[in-house]
Amino acid sequence: MTASQLRSGACLCNAVTFDITVPEAVYNICHCGMCRKWTAGPLMAVHCPGKPIFTNQEGLAWYQGTDWAQRGFCARCGSSLFWRLAENPDAMTIVSAESFDFSEDLKLGRHIYIDAKPERYDFRDDCPRVTEAELLAELGITPGSD
Ligand SMILES: [Zn+2]
Ligand SMILES: [Zn+2]
Repeated sequence: MTASQLRSGACLCNAVTFDITVPEAVYNICHCGMCRKWTAGPLMAVHCPGKPIFTNQEGLAWYQGTDWAQRGFCARCGSSLFWRLAENPDAMTIVSAESFDFSEDLKLGRHIYIDAKPERYDFRDDCPRVTEAELLAELGITPGSD
């Protein structure tokens, strides 16, 4: 367990740059269809309890794909950056692990939406794998309740 720390990140073209507090150096991998379409692969991301402090947000745009969540990206270079709850956007941010300037020390926590993963790829780690239903139950969200 590492101490919480402020990390810096950026999109590909630097039209979005930010700092955010990362509670521990752990990332999860989401295999849901929306994340895969959005990032061109499974989304590897770090759960952060607050919101980013932007040092440049010239390129920042938000896409609301569902009633309950918004995806932040750079409108100039297209980098996928953030995921947050629509109703309570400042409460937490899920940040793409790839957007951080330094991410080598991040350890894999678990796989989520494992039941949405296509057969054509697999990861070889032994980390926990949870389904959509298991994750939603853990978060106290009833499917379809939006
Ligand atoms: Zn950019
Ligand atoms: Zn996802």
